[in-house]
Amino acid sequence: MSPYLFVLAKEYLNRSLKTLTQNLNFNFHSKCAKLQVIHICFADDLLMCCRADEVSIKLMMRVFDHFSKVSGLQANLEKSSLYIAGVPMEFKDRILAELQLSAGSIPFKYLGVPLSSRKITIHRCMPLVEKIVERIRSWTSKFLSYAGRLQLIKSVLFEMQTYWAQIFLIPKKIIKLVNGICKNYLWTGSHENTHRAPITWETLCKSKAAGGLNIINYERWNKVALTKLLWAIMAKKDKLWIRWIHCHYMKQNDINTMEVPKQASWLVRKLFTAREWWANDIPAIESFVQNGRFSIQNAYLHATPRYPKVHWKALVMLTGILPKQQFILWMAIQRRLATVDRLANWGIQVTHSCVLCGCDIEETHDHLYFECPYSQSLWSGMLEWLSYRRKVENWEDEVQWLTTNVNNRNPRKTLLGVVFAAVVYHIWMKRNERRFQNQRREVKDRAKDIVMQVHITGQKKCKWTPILSTLNSYPNCNS
Ligand SMILES: [Zn+2]
Repeated sequence: MSPYLFVLAKEYLNRSLKTLTQNLNFNFHSKCAKLQVIHICFADDLLMCCRADEVSIKLMMRVFDHFSKVSGLQANLEKSSLYIAGVPMEFKDRILAELQLSAGSIPFKYLGVPLSSRKITIHRCMPLVEKIVERIRSWTSKFLSYAGRLQLIKSVLFEMQTYWAQIFLIPKKIIKLVNGICKNYLWTGSHENTHRAPITWETLCKSKAAGGLNIINYERWNKVALTKLLWAIMAKKDKLWIRWIHCHYMKQNDINTMEVPKQASWLVRKLFTAREWWANDIPAIESFVQNGRFSIQNAYLHATPRYPKVHWKALVMLTGILPKQQFILWMAIQRRLATVDRLANWGIQVTHSCVLCGCDIEETHDHLYFECPYSQSLWSGMLEWLSYRRKVENWEDEVQWLTTNVNNRNPRKTLLGVVFAAVVYHIWMKRNERRFQNQRREVKDRAKDIVMQVHITGQKKCKWTPILSTLNSYPNCNS
């Protein structure tokens, strides 16, 4: 059936059920009388409620049966349940038998999330964790680069979390578990536990300018998303659940000063505690509203601590750097690439000498960048190719020099950073190839790879054209 026809049919059901409000024999569910609610529906999910007396139940079911006959839309009895409380057992059994329904118990799942008036337990949140693990398993994730995995964490996994985080205050243990799974996945390609995280999750959640990767802090986001619900209550948005909260709990009270309604469900009580997260500063909550809508992004930025900016931000945030190279550059700047000295700290023993130059010198970050003759030759060759005449210094000096010499507005200065990121990446890849796959390629082949990459990226950047047209030869690297 087309969605439009379906909506028309549902409208007929809606009107039919409304006629019950005029029927003096029909009794509303006690919590629904004030707003005269008999049913709630979303797509093909339908909840109907009334007082648990025989007359009301039969009147309501008669309306539904009539709707079924005229529309041909039947309820799937396998998926339908009756929730009934506060009546004698015999009455309950008789009604269940007559309606041919099974007895449901709370909490039940609605649109994929558990519905309950009590605190959401860790046990109830496990389906979310399982779904995330399942998704990681289903990807051929081990073959993705760090940047690819990061993208998946940011998009797909985060979307799965936010669906829940917009509804519940997620238990801290679950947040820790989910963050742990994402962390393991980023560093190893699997959800299984690893003790080796080169960079802490907290750092990853910082902005790029503060040295992080802009991964969303799930706990903070969760609180902000619930604040949006609090704001909706404050703004008295014309939605059924908000009218219901005003009618039953707030009455005429002022949200700034009223106490948390004790008789309300756990979730509603948590919405009221959201005031404390903002130190009861209600105008601050109002300030996140843009064109009548609460902006989760604004509130999230407001709630994020102001971390100091890193001095190398200009280098890492340069446009035109390939994501996988940006990731390796970002790790290198923080000296977190798994060089032999770092591996030794983790108790992993490998051949300690440098595989690039073959000298009997321990492979450390400083050797790779740029004490090693191989790396020095590649980087100085690329510098010369870009018409920079300078001697290659040690890593810290190079990063410092680049940070002050790269810039997004000047194509030549952008290219300098792009080439540097490529050099750092290729040196690392070359080292891995030699170490783990015993492959050998000369410095000049690496340099050619970089030149090709820069020209290919440059085809999409018209600003680079004038400078790239002068860079029409291969660099001169001595190996
Ligand atoms: Zn070396």
